[in-house]
Amino acid sequence: MMSDASPLPPFTAPYAPDDDVIAARLLETARPDAAQDARIDRTATRLIEAIRAAGDRFGGVEDMLREFALSTKEGLALMVLAEALLRVPDARTADQFIEDKLGQGDFVHHETRSSAFLVNASAWALGMSARVLQPGETPQGTLGRLTKRLGAPAVRAATRQAMRLMGSHFVLGETIESALARAQPDSARAPRYSFDMLGEGARTGPDAERYFNSYASAIDAIGRAADHRPLPDRPGISVKLSALHPRYEAVSRRRVLTELVPRLIDLARRARTYDLNFTVDAEEADRLELSLDVIAAALGDASLAGWDGFGLAIQAYQKRASDVIEYADRLARQLKRRLMVRLVKGAYWDTEIKRAQERGLDGYPVFTRKAMTDLNYLACARQLLRLRPRIFPQFATHNALTVATILEFSDGDGGYEFQRLHGMGEALYAQLSEDRPTLAYRTYAPVGSHRDLLAYLVRRLLENGANTSFVAIAADPTVPVATLLRRPLEIIGAAGPARHPHIPLPRDLYRPQRVNSRGIEFGERAALNQLVAAVAASQPSLGAATDLDAEAANELTVAAGAGFKAWSATPAETRARILDDAADLLERRAAHFIALLQREGGKTLDDALSEVREAADFCRYYAAEGRRLFGPGKTMPGPTGESNVLRLRGRGVFIAISPWNFPLAIFLGQVTAALMAGNSVVAKPAEQTPLVAAEAVRLLHEAGMPASALHLAQGDGRIGAALTAHPDIAGVVFTGSTKVARSINRTLAAKDGPIVPLIAETGGINAMIVDATALPEQVADDVVTSAFRSAGQRCSALRLLFVQDEVADRMIEMICGAARELRLGDVRDPAVHIGPVIDLDAKQRLEAHIARMKRQARVHFTGKAPDGNYVAPHVFELSDADQLTEEVFGPILHVVRYPADQLDRVLQSIERSGYGLTLGIHSRIDDTIEHVVERLSVGNVYVNRNMIGAVVGVQPFGGHGLSGTGPKAGGPHYLARFATEQTVTINTAAAGGNATLLSDPE
Ligand SMILES: Cc1cc2nc3c(=O)[nH]c(=O)nc-3n(C[C@H](O)[C@H](O)[C@H](O)COP(=O)(O)OP(=O)(O)OC[C@H]3O[C@@H](n4cnc5c(N)ncnc54)[C@H](O)[C@@H]3O)c2cc1C
Repeated sequence: MMSDASPLPPFTAPYAPDDDVIAARLLETARPDAAQDARIDRTATRLIEAIRAAGDRFGGVEDMLREFALSTKEGLALMVLAEALLRVPDARTADQFIEDKLGQGDFVHHETRSSAFLVNASAWALGMSARVLQPGETPQGTLGRLTKRLGAPAVRAATRQAMRLMGSHFVLGETIESALARAQPDSARAPRYSFDMLGEGARTGPDAERYFNSYASAIDAIGRAADHRPLPDRPGISVKLSALHPRYEAVSRRRVLTELVPRLIDLARRARTYDLNFTVDAEEADRLELSLDVIAAALGDASLAGWDGFGLAIQAYQKRASDVIEYADRLARQLKRRLMVRLVKGAYWDTEIKRAQERGLDGYPVFTRKAMTDLNYLACARQLLRLRPRIFPQFATHNALTVATILEFSDGDGGYEFQRLHGMGEALYAQLSEDRPTLAYRTYAPVGSHRDLLAYLVRRLLENGANTSFVAIAADPTVPVATLLRRPLEIIGAAGPARHPHIPLPRDLYRPQRVNSRGIEFGERAALNQLVAAVAASQPSLGAATDLDAEAANELTVAAGAGFKAWSATPAETRARILDDAADLLERRAAHFIALLQREGGKTLDDALSEVREAADFCRYYAAEGRRLFGPGKTMPGPTGESNVLRLRGRGVFIAISPWNFPLAIFLGQVTAALMAGNSVVAKPAEQTPLVAAEAVRLLHEAGMPASALHLAQGDGRIGAALTAHPDIAGVVFTGSTKVARSINRTLAAKDGPIVPLIAETGGINAMIVDATALPEQVADDVVTSAFRSAGQRCSALRLLFVQDEVADRMIEMICGAARELRLGDVRDPAVHIGPVIDLDAKQRLEAHIARMKRQARVHFTGKAPDGNYVAPHVFELSDADQLTEEVFGPILHVVRYPADQLDRVLQSIERSGYGLTLGIHSRIDDTIEHVVERLSVGNVYVNRNMIGAVVGVQPFGGHGLSGTGPKAGGPHYLARFATEQTVTINTAAAGGNATLLSDPE
């Protein structure tokens, strides 16, 4: 679909093409000749020497050290602490945080733990301190000694100073006025700036409005302060589209085009009034197509005709970079105007790799070898230079070799500029300006308060610290200059594959055990459209399922009993292969199952796709585990002349009873585990979702599962009761309410005959604890996802949020603001975030709870729901956690504030509930995290992330206490619970002697 205003059809290019194909193309491009190579060496060497001669790249550190009588080492360690402290509002938590990082003594142990703090810390230490910290030293170790020497209050004061210092190093000013004052030229030739307003991206409508206003007033201030020189020699502003809209995501495209494009046009018009350089920053790969839609639509607006100041950033680490350049050029030609294009390498590389892995994509949208990014950057630079003057290239890099190579390509100093970040690349560009005074460069200058600094700072610290980063290596005098001069062409040309040898493709993440389930990126329009079309075309029929009566259920159990012998004798490898085939079939029919899940279960596209993937993961995981556990058996140690083998085998007929909230994944998870273990199965799905189950059983049969081993029993609780009461069953696997689990338990206990296992997974009043060190935006994202995704109908969903007093108002406001942006409606529309609840009964129960809460609690947020079985998200504040006495299975969040010194009371109240399924913690204090994890016996604990969506084989799922019996589904102990154990001991010497022993050579 094309927006009316767009001058071109939407951008399209393969999202994650093969690296080798791109490498082959890049390697074919013209190489510099020997004379050019020599000049590149000379220029780059001169720049590197300038960088090394400049010494301390982080000005101001020296002053601070003098003020507090600290060593450089201690100063650096304080910086690390300061970075994390930036957002802690209260002294108590700040002190606790400092103590946590300082007071331990056991720093070796600390080093091995992973936390956001340590990642940043090591990045910082690596980047800044190659000369200062000795190998093995950590910022924590240094800080520990420092605290002993000075005491925590003095360390706190010094840390605050370090914070200010870091702020001023990477940020030009806390306000646009102060930044402009600092940017004033001290020489005849005014430097070029592009100002950037710091922020995390909008989560709420008011956030987006605040960012808009801050951009608008910054444009005015910059424009008024600018002199009269023409573009491109004018200041500029860089804007982030994610700051201007609270749901800046591919699936919300229609809304984004309607709401964001006018805002962007408005800002661009203001920039035009002053003829500024107005650049749209580049963000994550899944937003690229959307960004280009928005940019094209804005650029096409008549009010911007004839203006040459509009620009965009393009990331060379993206495989689509060259296509984006081509698209930008087509836009410029179509609109008959010049575009400014900033070429960067890209700031979100680690995030891109993780996202592609999580989504199970076929490939990465970015390169995985740094040299490929460098090589592509140079190819893109040439492409841009060729497109002058329609395109005005802006080369943003701190890499001396990249700069030197571009200089060689560029035939003179005109028609383009370089760019650097404030606080980085100073020495390099000072040298360059001295050597080539006519060459222009611009400084990207972040503006904002300490509160908004964090995300930006983390990016910069990572950039300074990564051992692939040019600035980090250039600062280390032990690295020979020749190493820094190695050409990317040479590195790629010589080293074979263009892909990183240690970064597996997303689909290979769990190899050799199994293949990762296949997903798609919704940010790739072609893939999304294809899926939506296939789902729409699939049109599953929703005929009624036939319920059994109790007698028929009994007959099925008898039939399953008859099928058991042959199935349990089937080799584990054959059983596993059937499950693998089932997984492949599931993936091939993903669209069909998604359609079914949407029709019968009310699932959004994202939820339905995730569920199909989870189901495929279960099949493959249990197949792999089955091969491991149910093969020839485990040989046990013993005396000579005897063989001892322990093996697992099926128990008999298993009854599998599953819920409606994951009608495919939990259903198949239970059934495939029981079958893999050699049992025959009678599966009873929830009465609300019989068709998904019927289709899943058909699929398993088609994959080769014998009909005699797997039987489907449709019906309500009465059928479940009849099945579990049958005298000949060998076990029950159940997911559902604690109440029903108890009744099954009683039924089993009342029977004479063998005592059989019950594997039950039940609910929970799941809590999340958020302290003052947490990042509000991250908390808002994770709370909204955990509480409201799938309309709160997940057993892992967040019900009870404990927030530390000092930050509660801000957190609650952001959570409610983010919840307000969620769309409820028909799940066939991919833009919908929340679908209906399962049925009218559920809706009425939830509404009754909402009505009660409205009387008993403080109402923070009441969403709007369309007609039908929809329940709007709600946020209530309770005065006491005990007001919530039962699991409320819907999009209703209960918040409780706690004073910082009362964390233990919070833990007590979580314990008192008796449940123990999932728990979320948002904190940067390792001691707090450890304390909570130790104290609470909860099945799945999630730290600094959302608390839903456990991945098979990665986060085995299941709880304790009232939440279930264990073992965890999708974990290594699950299958064994479905099996009996048998030891076979053979006296191998029985026939008259131990030949093996006798013939063993000395
Ligand atoms: C003025 C300016 C504006 C910027 N605006 C943006 C923007 O809008 N959007 C944005 O994303 N970034 C932006 N950046 C950040 C920019 O992406 C980084 O500063 C840049 O990547 C650093 O490149 P370099 O040439 O200085 O350093 P180098 O050290 O030569 O390159 C580092 C880069 O290589 C890439 N890389 C590292 N490891 C690998 C690997 N294994 N495989 C593949 N690639 C790898 C990463 O992108 C990393 O950032 C901007 C930078 C500047 C200077």
